Amino acid sequence: MLLSRFLRSSVPRVASRRCYTSYDSLPEEHQMIYSMCRNFADTELAPNASTWDKNHAYPSSAVSQLGDLGLMGISVESDYGGAGLDYLAYAIAMEEVSRGCASTGVIMSVQNSLYGGPVQKFGTHEQKEKYLTPFATGSSIGCFGLSEPGNGSDAGAASTTAVKNGDGTYTLNGTKAWITNAHDASVAVVFATTDKSLKHKGISAFLVDTGSDGFSLGEKEDKLGIRASSTGNLIMEDVIVPGENLLGEEGMGFKIAMMTLDAGRIGIAGQALGIASASIDCAVKYALDRNAFGSPISKLQSIQNMISKMSVARDSARLLTWRAAELKDRGMPYTKEAAMAKLAASEAATMCSHQAIQVLGGMGFVTDMPAERHYRDARITEIYEGTSEVQHLVIAGNVFKEYQ
Ligand SMILES: Cc1cc2nc3c(=O)[nH]c(=O)nc-3n(C[C@H](O)[C@H](O)[C@H](O)COP(=O)(O)OP(=O)(O)OC[C@H]3O[C@@H](n4cnc5c(N)ncnc54)[C@H](O)[C@@H]3O)c2cc1C
Repeated sequence: MLLSRFLRSSVPRVASRRCYTSYDSLPEEHQMIYSMCRNFADTELAPNASTWDKNHAYPSSAVSQLGDLGLMGISVESDYGGAGLDYLAYAIAMEEVSRGCASTGVIMSVQNSLYGGPVQKFGTHEQKEKYLTPFATGSSIGCFGLSEPGNGSDAGAASTTAVKNGDGTYTLNGTKAWITNAHDASVAVVFATTDKSLKHKGISAFLVDTGSDGFSLGEKEDKLGIRASSTGNLIMEDVIVPGENLLGEEGMGFKIAMMTLDAGRIGIAGQALGIASASIDCAVKYALDRNAFGSPISKLQSIQNMISKMSVARDSARLLTWRAAELKDRGMPYTKEAAMAKLAASEAATMCSHQAIQVLGGMGFVTDMPAERHYRDARITEIYEGTSEVQHLVIAGNVFKEYQ
């Protein structure tokens, strides 16, 4: 039988199976998102990113513009004020915004995936009206409180407690550490143990108003990178949370956290890609202009090797990121693929930003050029939303499962 006839008779037709490999192969809507975010990054973010970084200044006007553009609730349903787009659009937007300013990128990422994600997936209609709509439009900011001073990677060991009272309210006590957007958020998704005997299966998720009595913030952390985003402790001392603010059911918190992080890793992969791309932009432009020994350094093979390795790392990580996003958009399992994307993209960001400084020589080491900021910003992408070591555990665990 001819191969073509064999294929026609035996291979099931899969409708609209997508696999995009370049910007010009993307659907028109995604190309428009790309162009809009690219233009916004070049005109509004990149020219200000260095000042925000130096002053540790929260980019409030840029965040409000992101809200106007629909980028603070990209995948939130339009009924709740969001843009109703898919995760591929989100990954593309995250790369471009972070190329302009990685701090703005993480603010957007936490708002979309760590805060908006679980509220959209597990919230009731009433919770979504109150806790999603104003956030999807960017007029309010949310945060995600999972890590604690005593446990980060080992999230199941949460020591924050939630005790149910006779009137259906809960009393929360404990401290959440390293929380992005802490100082700008009006609501936090907080994970707390409702039944310690059940270990991670006794963790529940709550929507906690940061203005509640007994809720306070630690000092703003003084960080190596992403300095324009706020990071700090959420401190809860006998905070009373209404029963209707339980997100999902009691005991579902750990599952909610893990599902949220799967999706969040696609956002952080996008952020890391943006840092890698900004590093490549900076290195290539400099190499074309800078002369040494009578010709541009772009003619030197050692410089070409660096640019080549940077481009291969960034492009392959982008394909992994788009693959993870497309799997999520199709409702397929994507835990392993999101971990792969985050691991590869964060390593690409670290390598590209390191090499960009090498291409720039002395100019790479001073704050007149953005290369040193990219180098500092890149480092966090290998730590938050699961360290690289944790991504390896997730990937290897899934690979072994495939053989059993
Ligand atoms: C700027 C910033 C923003 C953050 N934003 C948030 C946020 O918004 N919300 C939130 O909840 N958290 C946030 N975090 C916390 C972040 O997710 C944790 O720092 C991260 O998960 C690592 O936890 P840890 O710092 O406790 O390190 P640890 O878990 O103590 O890890 C220390 C080292 O041990 C390794 N290690 C630990 N366990 C294993 C293992 N099983 N196998 C192999 N190696 C292992 C780690 O990879 C790492 O190298 C943020 C952190 C920072 C720095």
